[in-house]
Amino acid sequence: MRIGAIEAGGTKFICGIGDGHGNIEEQISFPTQHPELTLPKVIEYFQDRQVQAMGIGSFGPVDLRPESRTYGYVTTTPKPGWANFDLLGTLKQVFDVPFGWDTDVNAAVYGEVRWGAAQGLTNCLYMTVGTGVGVGIYSEGRLVHGLVHPEGGHVRIRRHPEDDFPGICPYHGGCLEGMAAGPALEARWGKKGYELPADHKAWEIEAFYIAQSLTDMILLLSPQKIILGGGVMQQPQLYPLIRKAVLRNLNGYVSSPAILDHMDEYIAAPGLGQQAGLRGALALGVEALNYQVSTI
Ligand code: ADP
Ligand code: ZN
Repeated sequence: MRIGAIEAGGTKFICGIGDGHGNIEEQISFPTQHPELTLPKVIEYFQDRQVQAMGIGSFGPVDLRPESRTYGYVTTTPKPGWANFDLLGTLKQVFDVPFGWDTDVNAAVYGEVRWGAAQGLTNCLYMTVGTGVGVGIYSEGRLVHGLVHPEGGHVRIRRHPEDDFPGICPYHGGCLEGMAAGPALEARWGKKGYELPADHKAWEIEAFYIAQSLTDMILLLSPQKIILGGGVMQQPQLYPLIRKAVLRNLNGYVSSPAILDHMDEYIAAPGLGQQAGLRGALALGVEALNYQVSTI
C-alpha cells in the first residue's frame, strides 16, 4: 500500500508517503503561504509518487459534510487566500484516487487510535496547544463531526485568580485559545513560551486553564484517554501540573481506575510524537482506500 499524507497546518504543510501500517517512508515540509504558492508545491511533490489514496488533516474551520456545496473547503479562516478555499477539490482535480479528509486534530486522534498511544480504545480526545487550541474527538469508535466539527479550543473558561490578561481570541477574548495558546502566552508574558523558565508562574496558570477545559470534556465525553500535543506541550512540566489540577477539579467524582490510579497514562503525550498529525493523515488515507475497496 502506498498512501499520500498531508498535514495541512496554518504555519506549515507536511506531505509524506506511507504504508498501511503507519510507517512514513519519506516526507517534506514547507511554510503555509498563499494557496496559489502552496498548492503547486503539494501537487509537485505527489505528482510522480504514484499513491493509491491520500489523506488530509487540515487546519480549519473546514467543511466536512459530504452533501455540502463547499465540502472540502477551508471556510472562515483569516489566513490570506485560504477563506473559502477548495483545498480537497483542488487536489482531487489532479489526483484521481480516494481521499480521506478531516480536521488536523481529528486526524491526530485517529492516528493515535490506529498506531499510537490510544490503540484499541473506542473513546479518545486529542488536544493540541500550539498557535491555536484544537480538539479532536474519537467517540464510540468514530471521529466526531457533528454539525460542523467540534471547536473545543473556544470553550469559555473561568479566570485564574492571579491573571488579569484579557485574552486574545478575536471572537471571544478570553476563551481557552485566547488565554492559553502559544500567542496568548507570548502576549501575556512578553516572551515566547520556550523562553520562559520551567518554574515560571506562567506554567501553573497555563495548566489551570487546560485542566479546566479537560475536566469539562471528561465529564461531557467520558474519554478513555486524553492526548495532549502541540508546541506549547513541549514543556514537560505542564503534564504533571495539568494532571494534578484535573484530579483536584474532579475531586474524586469520576471513580474510574484510569483516573484515580493511572493518571500518568490517562493524560499523556502523543505516542506518535511530532508525527501524530502526519500519521493521522496517513490513517485517513488508508481508511479511504479500504472504504473504496469494500464498496466496489
Ligand atoms: P501550529 O499550532 O502552528 O501547528 P505548533 O504546534 O508548533 O504549531 O505551535 C506553535 C506555538 O507553540 C507557538 O506559539 C510557539 O511559540 C509555541 N511553542 C513552540 N515550541 C514551544 C516550546 N518548546 N515551549 C513553549 N511553547 C512553544
Ligand atoms: Zn475563541
